[in-house]
Amino acid sequence: MTEKPPVSLYDLSFPALQSLLEEWGEPPYRARQVWEWLYVHLADDVGQMTSLPRALRERLAAEFPLYVPRVLATQVSPDGLTRKDLLELADGEAVEVVLMRYERRRTACISTQVGCPIGCVFCATGQAGFRRNLTAGEIVAQVLHFARVLKAEGERLSNVVLMGMGEPLLNYDATMEAIRRLIDPQGFGLGQRHITLSTVGIFPQLDRLVQEPDLPQITLAISLHAATNDLRNRLVPVNRRYGLDAIFEACRRYFARTGRRISFEWVLIANVNDTPQQAAALAKRLKGLTAHVNLIPLNPTPAYHREPSTKEAIAAFTAVLERHGIPYTVRLRRGIEIQAGCGQLRGKLKVAG
Ligand code: SAH
Ligand code: SF4
Repeated sequence: MTEKPPVSLYDLSFPALQSLLEEWGEPPYRARQVWEWLYVHLADDVGQMTSLPRALRERLAAEFPLYVPRVLATQVSPDGLTRKDLLELADGEAVEVVLMRYERRRTACISTQVGCPIGCVFCATGQAGFRRNLTAGEIVAQVLHFARVLKAEGERLSNVVLMGMGEPLLNYDATMEAIRRLIDPQGFGLGQRHITLSTVGIFPQLDRLVQEPDLPQITLAISLHAATNDLRNRLVPVNRRYGLDAIFEACRRYFARTGRRISFEWVLIANVNDTPQQAAALAKRLKGLTAHVNLIPLNPTPAYHREPSTKEAIAAFTAVLERHGIPYTVRLRRGIEIQAGCGQLRGKLKVAG
């Protein structure tokens, strides 16, 4: 693991910014001005904050530099609708972010950790191991990056999915702080329902999320991939510690508390988890919940020698779900040409030197 990353202006919450500026002898309205430069006007340099006195701009730039991630590599899909950037952080680490344009939606897929310690066998990020947690500021900065790209084209970011590198619930505080920052109506102002948090389901943290006093109305997505513990233990190693019963207990509590639909992610791997038996076991587990199943044909990665499910297998799997009245979507493999599966661009760049 590397050293702690340096503190950036993006790492200050609004109350922290308020007390800092008060300490510096600034008038009370100053914090709101800085906040709006950051999250409403999307300034990427303190020098742009022209309504602030020059001395304050200089002091901010010196003591709390605005670390705007640098783009190390970009890949655009042939249809131009998906773009993936590798972003360099202040300490030289790098994370992947993906921008997807689907009908009117403009969705940023962002990372919460550099690498990931969970080690799902089919995942490029998991295969590469764990480096460090991201700060709340680094998580937010990824969203601001694409918000600026879109602004330059006269468009606005509409959705954020925490489905890039890393397991958000293993970086709980920074992730929650970042979400609060993004939905702040006086700041970036993203709709709560336009954020999706995807997790493999780390029981203690999932339960903590369920019990958050002011839980934002985000969409919860559970990366399930298997409906029996013996299979899930092999695909998602952390399942040996927090198995399916615990995950579904937390899901039931979440549903009882919020009444919100839960998404379940399922990477379809030929002859591994795409059998009608698994579909039936999934249907059984989902009883009593309002659920939506997202089926994602496996995106090939170098260290996992398996194939995505065939059309026939997918049809047999979904037929079982239909019989049980479970809504599902088979995700188009958009972005596969640019290796939009998480961790794949970083992996490629590393191999290239
Ligand atoms: N760690 C969290 C969030 C990031 S992973 C989680 O696992 O939920 C986001 C999604 O990408 C997960 O649903 C994961 O299963 C999926 N994914 C990872 N590797 C993939 C691959 N090779 N093909 C298709 N989907 C993949
Ligand atoms: Fe980590 Fe998610 Fe990849 Fe699993 S799928 S290794 S939890 S990033």
